[in-house]
Amino acid sequence: MESNKLFGTNGIRGLVNKELTVEMVVKVAEAIGTFFQRKNLLLGYDARTSGPMFAKAMTAGLTATGCNVYFAGMAPTPALQYAVKNHCMDGGVIITASHNPPEYNGIKVIWRDGIEISHEQEREIEEIYFKGKLVLAEWNKLGAKRELWTVNDEYIQAIKKHVDTAAISERKFHVVLDPANSVGSLTAPSLLRELNCKVTTINANIDGTFPGRMPEPRPENLKELAIVVKATGADLGVAFDGDADRAIFVDENGEVHWGDKTFAIIEKEFLIENPNEKIVTPVSSSTLVKDIADAYKGEIVWTKVGSVTVSQTMKEVKAKLGGEENGGVFYGPHQAVRDGAMTTALILEIMAKTGKKLSQLIAEQPQYFIEKGKIECPEDKKGKVLQKLLEQVQDLNISTIDGVKIWFEDKSSILIRPSGTEPIYRLYAEAKSQEKAQKLIEEYSLKIERILKTL
Ligand code: MG
Repeated sequence: MESNKLFGTNGIRGLVNKELTVEMVVKVAEAIGTFFQRKNLLLGYDARTSGPMFAKAMTAGLTATGCNVYFAGMAPTPALQYAVKNHCMDGGVIITASHNPPEYNGIKVIWRDGIEISHEQEREIEEIYFKGKLVLAEWNKLGAKRELWTVNDEYIQAIKKHVDTAAISERKFHVVLDPANSVGSLTAPSLLRELNCKVTTINANIDGTFPGRMPEPRPENLKELAIVVKATGADLGVAFDGDADRAIFVDENGEVHWGDKTFAIIEKEFLIENPNEKIVTPVSSSTLVKDIADAYKGEIVWTKVGSVTVSQTMKEVKAKLGGEENGGVFYGPHQAVRDGAMTTALILEIMAKTGKKLSQLIAEQPQYFIEKGKIECPEDKKGKVLQKLLEQVQDLNISTIDGVKIWFEDKSSILIRPSGTEPIYRLYAEAKSQEKAQKLIEEYSLKIERILKTL
């Protein structure tokens, strides 16, 4: 971690007892408590082995500054975010490292609207932390710790209000669920059973060492889920990440589909019922999301990559739906944050109402092929490379919201972004054929290599 920074793109993350220690979490907690100023804060954690230890450290630091801690225990991130709003808390803290491997943990700070705090607010907390501006409470004004054990059930009931439960129940879907041995196990099986689904689970015992699979729901981690879906003849497979805010789906044939395809299914149904609405999505999303918006009278609002930016933008432009290619769907009528269980309920509702299998819903969409690439680039040259590249492509249809994205007339596109964490440029190409996507990666890799040689 840099000397004046705590927060990365998604809160504070680090290796347990190396980059993130109990001592540090106590001080971070005091900085967060100083920032909130003696308010009521919800606290919860995911299934990681270090969760209870860091939750105790967080409780100590927050109560030392006079904040009251409402301890919710183990819960999915979206359940805790919902509880912050539902219980009129002033904010919340979630101990989670989301999709990172088990040796990591992290801290997400939630504002009273249930959305993670803005990057400006993160800077305020860092300022308090690094400049010794901690304000501790007098002995007779310390905060109290109270317990709140109802958040998971309240969350399940809230999701059910946003879907046609009768239509879903009637279909008696068979769903295979893989919550990665983490907190999705606490809510999704109950939700699905309440929706009259037959539920088969794998990796559903809570185990912070994540013995079943790594918590990032990438296709290579979901082979077991795909096999079980096919072998049991289930209608659908669902995999969550470690804190259950992202959902990736497997169709009845055992094929894993990346998040922008399932998001486009939800987007289409949403726009049919709510035409002329805005859809918020990062520039890393597929052109498919734009195609659906064009076909069903929606308006795309592109953002930088990052879930907090999507949530904040939804609030700014008053949008009710957002989505990411990594399986994050933000359903505003419920809450403007990513929510794995809400996404699952929406997909089941669409399958129930249309009578179509997931593979059919996917096959109906415009098809795109994807290629990815990366090029090494020293940190100090990243800015120059982007500047030179922009000079070369300025006459094309481009967006510079995050790196540079270029859309071509044949519906192919390429996104070229400097990585925020590594000395590399990442390239994501999409086209109507695999060959064309591959060609784009080669062409733009060469351009960047040539630019690098001139610097
Ligand atoms: Mg997550």
